[in-house]
Amino acid sequence: MSTETMVQQFPLFINGKWTPVSSGETFDVINPATGEVVAKVAKASEKEVDEAVQNARRTFESGVWSQKTPAERAQVLVKFSNKIIEHSKELIYLEAISSGGTLRKLGGADIRQLVLSLQQTADYAVDYKYVETLPLVNALGPSRNQIVREPMGVVAAITPWNFPLVLAMWKIAPALAMGNSIVLKPASNTPLGTLKLAEIAVEAGLPPGVFNVVTGPGSSVGEALVTHPEVDKVAFTGSTEVGKTIMQQAAGTVKKVTLELGGKAPALVLPDADLEVAIPGILLGVFFHSGQVCEASTRLIVHDSIYDEVVQKLAAMSAQIKLGNPLDPATGMGPVVSKQQMETVLSYIQSGIDEGARLVCGGKRATGPGLDAGYYIEPTIFANVTNDMKIACEEIFGPVLSVIRYSTEEEAIKIANDTIYGLSGGVWSRDVVKANQLAAKIKAGTVWINDWHMFRNDAPFGGYKQSGVGRELGISVLDEYTETKHIHTSLTTENNQRPALKLLF
Ligand code: NAD
Repeated sequence: MSTETMVQQFPLFINGKWTPVSSGETFDVINPATGEVVAKVAKASEKEVDEAVQNARRTFESGVWSQKTPAERAQVLVKFSNKIIEHSKELIYLEAISSGGTLRKLGGADIRQLVLSLQQTADYAVDYKYVETLPLVNALGPSRNQIVREPMGVVAAITPWNFPLVLAMWKIAPALAMGNSIVLKPASNTPLGTLKLAEIAVEAGLPPGVFNVVTGPGSSVGEALVTHPEVDKVAFTGSTEVGKTIMQQAAGTVKKVTLELGGKAPALVLPDADLEVAIPGILLGVFFHSGQVCEASTRLIVHDSIYDEVVQKLAAMSAQIKLGNPLDPATGMGPVVSKQQMETVLSYIQSGIDEGARLVCGGKRATGPGLDAGYYIEPTIFANVTNDMKIACEEIFGPVLSVIRYSTEEEAIKIANDTIYGLSGGVWSRDVVKANQLAAKIKAGTVWINDWHMFRNDAPFGGYKQSGVGRELGISVLDEYTETKHIHTSLTTENNQRPALKLLF
């Protein structure tokens, strides 16, 4: 794959077609590895958001997708997954030059995840209980009672920049499986792969107008979507701060919302942890994708007896991580997504120093051949961190690890749960019985024992506390994209068999 880039133009994708914006306005997408503009993307106005939503609504009401059988929809999802494989090189390239995701991440995890989640959802869509008949209850008189599951209508999906395609697919697949139409707004740093994905879906046989993409700032385009009266549900992944705004905006029309928000995951390292396994595992847990992962293991809570050894080994091994251009297969860690994100991360690092944490390694913008023009940050480890420091409380979203000391298990759990977040957590220990006992005490939606970042499409993912509302993945995600209706049919024409009449007569 060439590392040379040319500036591509991307209009919106509405009703199965590339659709220019009437203002002609665009915004730049910048490659974080080089600082170069790689694409110009249409900036939608409220008018175009409305056009996309109205198209999605019309398509939904037409029944062209919403009335297809589950098996027909599942077939299209499988075709969609096959088309993604066909187009994988282009998708990987578009994601790499905008998000800074490495070839190893995009090829080794993201594309696989897209394909497998579509295939898994296609299976679920066929198995799902669309109609359930309830047992007879004599007290109501003879009746047939059914629970019917229906699509909701128009889903607005809003996604962040760290895993643009994967997090879009976690919404697209269940929304489509259940027969909904979608308008998706990707993050402005990383809209390219998602726009291409919408085109691929149509190529796979998805009727035009079912899956639309509008691009532009969250404050205008995002808000126009979240407040649009023809949108029935909002599926959001992003920061807790924006999630709160979205919840408030959605309240105006009482839309259903699912929110996947921030995290500040605790990882407990017990005295008996197998450090041969734990050290590389912890580093993967925190530095994968330059730490821009919501469920990253950012707070390491280490027992006093092994604290110094763990810190020293982490620092030594982190020196082996190769920083470089995401398009180079040798690269282990790429840049952070933007100049602004780099500055945010560097200011967090400064706050750690100012608050008295001990900088063990990293701490600076990474420089050197091939790095100077990009937004690279050295893998950074702080020791002697206390849980009240800013670097331990706030989500940094960069390659920064805070190592905190504990001496009793009660103290470790208290520190682990002393956070507004509850997305993920973990335990490193040879004693899996003990580790499971501690896992039960960690208030988080996912807990890994002697591992990290291990997702399954059949395991729900989401947050406790301010890390979110609802769950993605797993069969239960389909409930998040359906309305439930109870249909009661009286099976008698005899009034003396209708006990409720006695309430009045
Ligand atoms: P962000 O919250 O800044 O933006 C997310 C999306 O919301 C973008 O598309 C943005 O344009 C849009 N947006 C911004 N303001 C809006 C508004 N007022 N109304 C509607 N939409 C608006 O997040 P980000 O910086 O793109 O991504 C990083 C954040 O995402 C981190 O906090 C991270 O933890 C979180 N995240 C969570 C998960 C999860 O599954 N829980 C996964 C990945 C990322």
